[in-house]
Amino acid sequence: MAWSARPDGPTEFLSKQYLDYTGLAAEQARGWGWTAVVHADDLDGLITIWQTIIASGKAGETEARLRRFDGSYRWFLIRANPLRDESGNIVKWYGVNIDIDERKRAEDKAVEAEGELQRTIDDIPALVSAYYADGSRISINRREREFTRLSAEDVTNGGWRGAIHPDDIELEESKWRACVTTGEPFEHEYRVRAVDGTYRWHIARRVPLHDEAGKVIRWYGMSHDIEGRKQAEAFLAGEKQLLEMIASGSLLRDVLGALCEFIEGAAPDCFCDVHMIDWISSTFEYAVAPSLPSAYSDPIAGMPVSGELLPCGIAALQKIQVVAVDIELDPRWYTSPVRSHVLRHGYRSVWSTPVCSKEGRVLATFCIVQRKPAAPSPHHQDIIAHATQIASIAIERSLIEAALRRTETLLSEAQRLSSTGAFSWRVDTDEIAFSEELYRIFEFDPSAPVTLEQIRERIHADDIPSLTAQMARVRGGQSHLGYEIRLRMSDNRVKYLRTFGQVIRHHDGRMECLTAVQDDTGRRQAEEALGKARSELAHVTRVSSLGALTASIAHEVNQPLSGIITNASTCLRMLAADPPNVDGARETAHRTIRDGNLAADVIARLRALFSKRAPTIEPVDLNEAAREVIALSAGDLQRSRVVLHPQLHEGLPLVAGDRVQLQLVIMNLLRNAADAMSGVEDRPKRLVIRTEHDEDDYVRLSVEDAGAGFGADGSERLFEAFYTTKNEGMGIGLSVSRSIIDSHCGRLWAAANDGPGATFTFSVPEYSKYRSSGVQVGDSPRSVGVR
Ligand code: ADP
Repeated sequence: MAWSARPDGPTEFLSKQYLDYTGLAAEQARGWGWTAVVHADDLDGLITIWQTIIASGKAGETEARLRRFDGSYRWFLIRANPLRDESGNIVKWYGVNIDIDERKRAEDKAVEAEGELQRTIDDIPALVSAYYADGSRISINRREREFTRLSAEDVTNGGWRGAIHPDDIELEESKWRACVTTGEPFEHEYRVRAVDGTYRWHIARRVPLHDEAGKVIRWYGMSHDIEGRKQAEAFLAGEKQLLEMIASGSLLRDVLGALCEFIEGAAPDCFCDVHMIDWISSTFEYAVAPSLPSAYSDPIAGMPVSGELLPCGIAALQKIQVVAVDIELDPRWYTSPVRSHVLRHGYRSVWSTPVCSKEGRVLATFCIVQRKPAAPSPHHQDIIAHATQIASIAIERSLIEAALRRTETLLSEAQRLSSTGAFSWRVDTDEIAFSEELYRIFEFDPSAPVTLEQIRERIHADDIPSLTAQMARVRGGQSHLGYEIRLRMSDNRVKYLRTFGQVIRHHDGRMECLTAVQDDTGRRQAEEALGKARSELAHVTRVSSLGALTASIAHEVNQPLSGIITNASTCLRMLAADPPNVDGARETAHRTIRDGNLAADVIARLRALFSKRAPTIEPVDLNEAAREVIALSAGDLQRSRVVLHPQLHEGLPLVAGDRVQLQLVIMNLLRNAADAMSGVEDRPKRLVIRTEHDEDDYVRLSVEDAGAGFGADGSERLFEAFYTTKNEGMGIGLSVSRSIIDSHCGRLWAAANDGPGATFTFSVPEYSKYRSSGVQVGDSPRSVGVR
């Protein structure tokens, strides 16, 4: 659409397209008539610009909406150019109106879309910003504007950095610069200042926007509030630190103090106080309250735990949380004994919560006081729950440790008093742990760990095979053991130990042998001393009674002997007389005979006294009799290192005998067997005591040793009275034994073994046989053996 106008503005000519478009007649449109089709909103602007162009005399353009003949408007670009004469004066204006409606609408849409986008971004529940490729900020969303109250100027001139916490800014900047250089996405956590001046943790993420060539043209960033997460993390770290304190065995007071400070950090305006309870005296034991004046918290110590309007007392007794929102104004606390105390120190609210053990026992109370009236918020309840749980763990652990220390002390004291130590042996790894007392018994350095090798070196060389056998037994699955063993100390002292062990199988299959070890040396030494004294005494008794016997025999026999001598001398004298006094000599010879008989009588009487005592015959269980003797001699045998193997057959008939006398025989045989093995070093000192059925209703008992045996001159001499090969021997044991067995109508004999040693056997009749045969005491024996 073309047109021309006069130099001062009014239109002279409008092209046909112009007139067709507007539907105006040429005369209607000329001059200023065309302004009738300009959109009312655009008219003033258009006229103003047209006048400016005229005044400037230079070409110019503007945009405006022109009405079509059908009443609709379209956008046009209106351009005017001056036409000048030779002298440069404007003679005319030429203009063209170009239809730009399509473009304009597209532009509007774009603006509208941008506005939509901006609104969307504004509503994103995060702080969103856009950046130029160089990293400087272009804009921020509404949320960020509202959060930080940054001015538009701050946003673009870098003043926005003022909203970042001073401690975080340097790292943020260097990291951001690095990302802007490399084009790598940016992620960083920092604190952002809110309108109220407080800082909150945010995590910022910024990603680059590339053009088609891959060049970064913009950055978009978003940051989220992570204050909740940060607080939870800090809380968790604090809790962890407290649990570490507990685990590392810090003092309970220190742990509880740190707990109070931790809770105070998480709950501003709160002051914490833990009250320990002693249920034995039902009083509060002490208070831990690092932030409260001691004049406030100390008086709790020793106060009775009563429900008497004491918040902590009620909490402890009723196991409930007690909340005094305002101890000053709440009538419930008017008569409380602590009301004035609390108020005097400037506190108004008191919340007390019981601290319970896993089993539900109240261990303490956890108390929070504040200077203003207040009720606990959900946040407060949350941290109170954490605090009471940690306090419970700390207190329980310290109680358990105290109990453990007590039992440990008790145990080590008991071990010390009873000279009993203990050790554990991990069968799979050979790890060994000694108790304190066992270190003392073994005389090992208590600061060093014990090894099997070390133990072996301490064990008496003769007992090493026994130790090896015991260990093999444990490895072989035996669960209980008890054995005796000797130690040889570095100065050659010998210690006697008695041990009782038990093998434990853990869930994971590991085997552990727990053994109690008693130092028996003292008792053994005393017993040995006693045994020695006893045998010395027995010897002395024997010697002295023999002496007394000899003296009495001498005395008894001396009288008739001196009578005989006197009579014989008299007789000689009478026969030597001249003439011989034959009657007198006969008389004195008679007296000699009388005195001789007298002496024989004395001797017969003595013999009757010593050897002809009749045994008391009764039914005797030979096995039982033997067991009693074994029990009696066990100590002696063990001391002599003799290993006894009883083979007592069950179901044997009862025998006829004098129980005590038979036991005397068994005792004699055992003692002789042990004596015979005293010099044996190269083989086990094996002693078998065996009972079995003998032919003809007899029962036999034999004692088999591995000792020296007897020489080629046979066994019979052994049974002679006073035959002995021992320094201390009397040589009457076997002869007495034989006479006892003879008097039981039995038989006693000795036989050399095939291997080393000898076997002594006696055989006595069954009780039933003895009764039915009517054999009586004193009857001649069935056999006199090899005698
Ligand atoms: P004592 O034991 O006092 O010597 P005994 O009459 O009991 O008296 O024994 C006599 C002797 O018989 C002993 O000294 C010893 O030489 C021998 N004797 C006894 N028992 C055995 C035995 N089991 N093995 C070898 N010799 C033995």
